[in-house]
Amino acid sequence: MSLAHGRPYLAIPGPSVMPDAVLAAMHRASPNIYEGDLIDMVDGMIPDLRRTARTEGHVAIYISNGHGAWEAALANTVAPGERVLICATGRFGHGWAEMAQGLGIEVEVLDFGRKTPVEADRVSEALRARPVKAVLMVHTDTSSSLRSDVAEVRRAVDEAGQGALLMVDCIASLGCDPYEMDLWGADVTVTGSQKGLMVPPGLGFVFFSDRAAEVRRAMPRVSRYWDWGPRADPEMFYQYFGGTAPTHHLFGLRAALDLIHAEGIEAIWARHATLARAIWAAAEVWGEGGPLTLNVAEPRHRSHAVTALRLGTPHAARLREWTARAAGVTLGIGLGMSEEGDPKGQGYFRFGHMGHVNAHMILGLLGTVEAGLAALDIPHAPGGVSAAAKVIAEA
Ligand SMILES: *Cc1c(COP(=O)(O)O)cnc(C)c1O
Repeated sequence: MSLAHGRPYLAIPGPSVMPDAVLAAMHRASPNIYEGDLIDMVDGMIPDLRRTARTEGHVAIYISNGHGAWEAALANTVAPGERVLICATGRFGHGWAEMAQGLGIEVEVLDFGRKTPVEADRVSEALRARPVKAVLMVHTDTSSSLRSDVAEVRRAVDEAGQGALLMVDCIASLGCDPYEMDLWGADVTVTGSQKGLMVPPGLGFVFFSDRAAEVRRAMPRVSRYWDWGPRADPEMFYQYFGGTAPTHHLFGLRAALDLIHAEGIEAIWARHATLARAIWAAAEVWGEGGPLTLNVAEPRHRSHAVTALRLGTPHAARLREWTARAAGVTLGIGLGMSEEGDPKGQGYFRFGHMGHVNAHMILGLLGTVEAGLAALDIPHAPGGVSAAAKVIAEA
């Protein structure tokens, strides 16, 4: 029977759940883009944006998704023919590498697989073998749900002493997993609007340090549209966005930043950490009596924003179909997790738990999955929801 009527939960790792306050802020007539509220609002938003990435650096905003932010970061810092090193811990690392290749950049991919995070020693070794202009890494790779240590990679880059920039994809992690751009020494941080920032897809953000700004100034040529210079330091409002402003997204973003700063970024990190632990506790119990496993074995390497799980075929697809049809919960598909006997990685699925999610949503999500496992006769140990409730009760 279908029990799906009611408010649906899109529990995929982006786009994330949109708060009512964000939706309400966007529901309005077109504003004037030459004077008035919008202009004042954007000027005031820049410091609030910087606080989400914990940086005193610069920020450029693009009308783009995360892929656009990837391209923007590269277009401002690396010329065709120059070299970068990309640390890959899942599909998104490889995706950023492909983007760089498409720009004519020489790319070396350091592949850590899909089970273990970036290892700083291997980064050091690769840099000793061949210097690069920039090292790129994905903080939380959304396909594997691995989280890597940015500060450790910074130390490896500094030890190599070649002055390489460190560029970090925080598209999945910003506003979910703790991230300290300045403290950890990232030169460039890229993110998008539709994950921890809780706004529809359509805005890309590139934060950059003074050192990255210097590297930009020394570039022979940067595409006019992606040039972060005028966007980060506009002489007039029009330059913030290289053209017409993404008006409604900006109102949504303002509402989201208000929510973020009312709760406090550290409280947000703690909320995500506890909810993630509740999910892991449930999954570990279920796995005691059946095939379900968390993709990342070591808790300290797991993201707090997304969880990749292996259930095998055809169970994973059946479970996703059941939770959507019977209960109104949409789970994420496996991404980039091909393995022997399952070339498309269909035995995997993912929980997105980024942004506007709270304890009752996560308990509902887990209760729904436990019901689905039972309804479909997928072997599992019962009691996952109780284990999750215990984590939440003790938090
Ligand atoms: C979602 C995501 C991307 C891609 O963002 P798009 O908005 O889909 O272009 C890149 N990297 C990571 C880590 C992501 O989570």
